[in-house]
Amino acid sequence: MQKAIFLDRDGTLNEDTGYVHRIEDWRWLPLVKESLAKAQRAGFLLVVVSNQSGIARGLFTEEDLAVLERQIDCDLARSNVTVSWYHCPHLPEITGPCLCRKPAPGMLITAQKDLTIDMANSWMIGDRLRDCEAGIAAGLGTIKLSGTHEKSRSEDEKAKELGSLVVQNLSQGIDCILTAQKECLAWFHGKARRGMHVS
Ligand SMILES: [Mg+2]
Ligand SMILES: [Zn+2]
Repeated sequence: MQKAIFLDRDGTLNEDTGYVHRIEDWRWLPLVKESLAKAQRAGFLLVVVSNQSGIARGLFTEEDLAVLERQIDCDLARSNVTVSWYHCPHLPEITGPCLCRKPAPGMLITAQKDLTIDMANSWMIGDRLRDCEAGIAAGLGTIKLSGTHEKSRSEDEKAKELGSLVVQNLSQGIDCILTAQKECLAWFHGKARRGMHVS
């Protein structure tokens, strides 16, 4: 079994400018590629799990998204990084309820089965509360990024209440996992309430 880091996409890897589906609009957040490379070298699979309701809304197609993901793959390959992509194309108001749109854990469970992931030693990182909720439902340690969006920041307290670690950006989140992995998991699972301080 493989340990993994599940990653939200918009607002976690790239600037969340809304329904990003073209490479021209893709802007990496600072230190993301370097952090992903570090995590991969430490033996983590990298799995992107992303709500892409722009498909249900008719703003872009599955094909558009697939093209973008291949372009990002090429970019990441230059840093020797490989990610697995999962997305939910639905929006309940348009396509009806589904099991994959976060906060539901459907994408994470599918990836777990596809890639044989050891969930007890794996993590979810995202900038929204629903990322943490999906991670918790799937049995992962969770890290909430205190995003640049007001919407995201207003969810920090609730994420803490759920037991998520709150940090500023992906680089910090991955450093936390890599430098204090066991302590982080213990902290998350409430087995230890000391030894982990993130400012
Ligand atoms: Mg996000
Ligand atoms: Zn879905």
